[in-house]
Amino acid sequence: MIQFEEVIKKYPNGQVALEDINLKIEDGEFIFIVGPSGAGKSTMLKLITREILPSSGKILFNDENILQFKEGKIPHLRRKIGTVFQDFKLLLNRTVFENVAVPLEVVGKKESDIEKEVSSVLEKVGLLDKAEYFPSQLSGGEVQRTAIARAIVSMPQVLLADEPTGDLDPKTAREVVKVLEKINQDDKTTVIMATHNAAIVNHFKKRVVVLEKGKIEKDEKEGKYESD
Ligand code: ADP
Repeated sequence: MIQFEEVIKKYPNGQVALEDINLKIEDGEFIFIVGPSGAGKSTMLKLITREILPSSGKILFNDENILQFKEGKIPHLRRKIGTVFQDFKLLLNRTVFENVAVPLEVVGKKESDIEKEVSSVLEKVGLLDKAEYFPSQLSGGEVQRTAIARAIVSMPQVLLADEPTGDLDPKTAREVVKVLEKINQDDKTTVIMATHNAAIVNHFKKRVVVLEKGKIEKDEKEGKYESD
């Protein structure tokens, strides 16, 4: 469970990115955070991972106020959260398999477990047959599905996706979001996706939170987004 309580974020230069945000996201939800560029979407995601701190208010993760976490507890929080961005940030000199294996290597998993777990997520995102390919040999959608596989290989409780379809054509964008939907349905992973892509949002019929100039304008189940 993630909860924002009266959250305000003002950046050091005086820019107010979020104003009085109140929002509760239950475990297992799929939610789109939408709004035009500059509305505050990325700021919300960065607050959840504690990459940045709010100016005031509370942010709860599993009922704990993450703002009160000591430094040592922050990696623990981040291990529960997978992240996917518009720019894919794959290692170009490593194969799909090796890219997805990185988070497991970092925590010192046995090679046989890594083999099993990476293969299982590659199957889930439909990339088992491309395991030995390098990023330069993949399409945009395949690169993004690799990034998603890497984000979920540690079985996070929550998956944050910031404009994951930004550089993709409409059909490929839909395929990528379908993969996120499958992860949400099969693994009960909470998915929070920030986007300004109205066509995607309206196609998938999920909860939609509309941000406008740092404020929540609308929060609807099976919502729609009418962008300008
Ligand atoms: P979105 O993700 O919806 O495009 P952001 O959360 O990135 O919006 O930005 C919200 C507002 O905060 C914008 O006006 C943006 O210019 C500003 N902003 C974002 N990051 C910073 C920063 N590090 N310093 C100052 N202002 C920022």
